[in-house]
Amino acid sequence: MTTLMPAAFIGHGSPMNAIEENRYTQCWTDFGASVDKPTAVLVVSAHWYVNITAITAMRAPRTIHDFYGFPQPLFDVEYPAPGDPEVARRVIDAVEPTYVGLDADSWGIDHGTWSVLVHMFPKADVPVLQLSINAELPFDYHFNLGAKLHQLRSEGVLILGSGNVVHNLRLIDWRSPGEGTDWAHRFDDSMREIMTSDAANLGTASAHADYAMAVPTPDHFLPLAYVAGLCAAANAPASALIDGYEMGSLSMTAYQLAGTST
Ligand code: ZN
Repeated sequence: MTTLMPAAFIGHGSPMNAIEENRYTQCWTDFGASVDKPTAVLVVSAHWYVNITAITAMRAPRTIHDFYGFPQPLFDVEYPAPGDPEVARRVIDAVEPTYVGLDADSWGIDHGTWSVLVHMFPKADVPVLQLSINAELPFDYHFNLGAKLHQLRSEGVLILGSGNVVHNLRLIDWRSPGEGTDWAHRFDDSMREIMTSDAANLGTASAHADYAMAVPTPDHFLPLAYVAGLCAAANAPASALIDGYEMGSLSMTAYQLAGTST
């Protein structure tokens, strides 16, 4: 019997979601409760966007508070999940000949990861690894790298992309909690159409009329490319776990790629 772990893209939004409870965090909690306990969680977070492809390989990754201007309780959050150097090597093998550097001491668990995992796996008892997003390489590289991670799903690894489909901080409107602008809706709706029918077409997103507004920088969008690659490798569509908007220019949409048992 072959079992494939689910995979998911999470719209993580504000770091405050780590210490708040709302319908998004409830969705993440429910998703965590719905999956068999993974051997490890591998996260592609928008907040590890650097000029190299690397994977965390330390046994005890630190909790990184990579933001400022938030309340002290957010800086007090620790997510003491272990790492797993063996899984890191499995990832490197799985994506060969793509080069992935082993990160022994530079990164850890950033808030794109822990703000979600404190809800999804509150006991912090599942090993967590992060795969960096190489900022120097185009969409297709990330999509193809995501597809190469497919076999890890059969080894009990839960793969998460953590970003936001629409993420324009410059256009945040604090008077619009729970709302999205027209262009945010248009872009998010188009991406949902692609992800839930033929995710292999996600590369067409850059031709969308609202792309420049929705994706002013690629960091929060590219985690979705990894999940789209996993969809393509599994020849299966994603389904929306939840949708919604915040402050006009953020979408909180999350997707899952269902697990299978055959
Ligand atoms: Zn973020």
